[in-house]
Amino acid sequence: MPDNPLHILRSVFGYQEFRGQQRQIIGRLIGGGDALVLMPTGGGKSLCYQIPALARPGVGVVISPLIALMEDQVSALRQLGVKAAYLNSTLNAEQNRDIEQRLMQGDLDLLYIAPERLNNPRTLSMLSNCRIALFAIDEAHCVSQWGHDFRADYLQLSILPEQFPDTPRIALTATAEPRTREEIVQRLGLQQAEIYISSFDRPNIRYRIVQKQNPRQQLLRFIRTEHLGDAGIVYCMSRKKVEETADWLNAQGLNALAYHAGMDNQVRRQRQHKFLMEDSLIMVATIAFGMGIDKPNVRFVAHLDLPKSIEAYYQETGRAGRDGQAANAWMAYGLQDVLALREMLSNGTGSEAHKRLERHKLDAMLGLCETVDCRRQTVLQYFGEAAGEHCGNCDACLEPAATWDASLPAQQALSAIYRTGQRFGVGYLIDVLRGKIADPRVQQFGHDKLQVFGIGKTLDEDQWRSLFRQLVAKSLVDVDFNQYGGLRLNENCRPILRGEQTLMLRRDGQAAKYYVNTANRPKSDDPLWQALRGKRKEIAERLDIPPYQIFHDSTLMAMLAAKPQTLNQLSRVNGVGEYKLKAYGAEFLEILLGAMR
Ligand code: ADP
Ligand code: ZN
Repeated sequence: MPDNPLHILRSVFGYQEFRGQQRQIIGRLIGGGDALVLMPTGGGKSLCYQIPALARPGVGVVISPLIALMEDQVSALRQLGVKAAYLNSTLNAEQNRDIEQRLMQGDLDLLYIAPERLNNPRTLSMLSNCRIALFAIDEAHCVSQWGHDFRADYLQLSILPEQFPDTPRIALTATAEPRTREEIVQRLGLQQAEIYISSFDRPNIRYRIVQKQNPRQQLLRFIRTEHLGDAGIVYCMSRKKVEETADWLNAQGLNALAYHAGMDNQVRRQRQHKFLMEDSLIMVATIAFGMGIDKPNVRFVAHLDLPKSIEAYYQETGRAGRDGQAANAWMAYGLQDVLALREMLSNGTGSEAHKRLERHKLDAMLGLCETVDCRRQTVLQYFGEAAGEHCGNCDACLEPAATWDASLPAQQALSAIYRTGQRFGVGYLIDVLRGKIADPRVQQFGHDKLQVFGIGKTLDEDQWRSLFRQLVAKSLVDVDFNQYGGLRLNENCRPILRGEQTLMLRRDGQAAKYYVNTANRPKSDDPLWQALRGKRKEIAERLDIPPYQIFHDSTLMAMLAAKPQTLNQLSRVNGVGEYKLKAYGAEFLEILLGAMR
C-alpha cells in the first residue's frame, strides 16, 4: 500500500522505524486531525508533516519563516525524489510563475511558503483552488509575543481555520515554555489539536563546563583531542573577540571562519553557505549565527563566554548533534564572565520587573555552572521536566567535582570586603587577604593594619578567585558597577558571616583526567571511512548541495559497519531510500566492494 506511512518512511526516507511520537502524530494528521508538536531540535519534526503530506491527496503547504531553512529542506527533499518547491522573495517572476503553475496542476507534494507570502490575497485565492493535504506551521513559537522570535506575519495565520476548515493543521516548535504553548494554541486556533510533548533531553550531547584558565589554549586542546576535522560552532560575546578567535584558530592550523551581525548581508550569507557545504569548518560567531542552521553534523558547540540564561545555553548547544550522533557542548567559564554579565544586567534598560526576570535567569545559569550535580538533570528540572537518574554523559557525572567546607575563608573574605569599606574589587581583596602590598592604596588606606590583612595565606590566588566567583555567582555579595566592580555585602551573606550556616563550594581545577567523547565514531584515519566521505563530497560538489544531503554521517557509519556487497544489501542500510539508491547507490557500492578486495 503506497500511502502507508511506514512504507513511505522506508521507501522514500530509507529509515526503518519511527522515532518517538512520530507514528502517532502522523496518524493523527492522516486521519484529518490537528496537532501541536513540541519536540527538541533534532527530534525529527520534519517527518511529522512530510509523511502525511505524501500520504494524503494534494499538496502539503509548509509555512516557514527562514529562507535559508526553506531552501535547505526543499533541496534535501528533492534528493529523496519528492516534488518540493518554495515560494519566497528570492524567486524571479518566471520562477514564480513556474511554481504556481506546478501547484495548480497538482504537480507538487510539498510547498514551502514564507508567512508574508501566505497572507497575500492572491496566494490565498490560489490555494483555495488547489487540493491541500495539510498546513504545517513550522517554528510556531514565532506567533508568541512572549517568545524570543515574534513575527507579526504569524498572527495572520489565524485565517487558515476560517478559510480552510477541513484541512488538517500541524504546528511545530522546539520551545517548551508553557506560556508560549498556550499562546500558540490560542492565536492559531488550535483548540481542537492534540498536543504532543516530547522530552527535551538530548542524550547524545555531552555537557561540560570547565573553569577558565587559558581559554584559547583550552579550546584548542578540546578541538585537537576530540574534534579534528569536525564541523563545530564557537560562540563568543563580542564581534571583536569573534574575529580574534577565528584568526587565532586559523593560525593554529584549524579551519575557522568568523560570523557576526556587523558583517554585511552578502558576506554572512556566503559564510553560512560555506558552513553548510563543508564537512569540517569551525564557525566562530556571536549569537547572530544559528537561527536556520539545520546542519545535522555539527559535532560540537563551544562557548568562550557565558550565555545569559539556561534557555539561551540550551538553544545554542542544541545545534550540536542534530543527527543523533555523539556531540559535545563545551564551555569555559570564570569570574570575569560572572562579573561581565552581572554588569550587563545592571546597566540594562527596561522595567524593574523585566530586570528581575533577567537576574533570575542569569542566577539559574550561574547555578548550572557552579553545580556539582548532573548538568542534564539541572537543565531538565529548570524546564520543569522530571529528570530521572544521573545521566552519565556530563562532566559532573563522569568526573564528579569535590566540594569543600569554605565557611571560614568565606567569613574572612566577607570581612575583608566589609573592613576595606565595600568598594574594592576581587584583585585588591585577594591582595589584602594574602598580605600583599602590590597596590600602593593598601598602605595609603592603612589596609595593611587590618586584622584581615594576610589572614588568608593558606589559599593561593586561584583558590581565592574561585571562592569570590562562587560568592558572586550565588548572590552572596553584590557587585557595584558604579564603583568599578567593588564588592558589597548583602542580606544573603549574613548567616555565613555569623557562622550560622556552612558554605560548601565546588573545588575547582581538579579535572586532571581528560576524557574524550568520540563514542562509536569511526577513527578519522580509517581508509574506508575516508573513502566514503570522499565519495560523498565528490557527489555533493557535482550537485552543488551540502554533503549531508547525500547521506548523513550516521548512514555512512552504518555502511561502514554493515559493509554491504550488493545493492539490495545497501538498500537495507538506515538512511538509504529508493531514490538515493538509484541515484548514487552504485558509486558507494563500488567503494565498499573495493575495500573488500
Ligand atoms: P527537527 O526539525 O526536529 O530539528 P529534523 O526533522 O531535522 O529535526 O530531524 C533530525 C534528524 O533526524 C534528521 O537528520 C532526520 O533525517 C533524522 N530523522 C528523523 N526521523 C528519523 C527516523 N525515524 N529515523 C532515523 N532518522 C530520523
Ligand atoms: Zn549528568
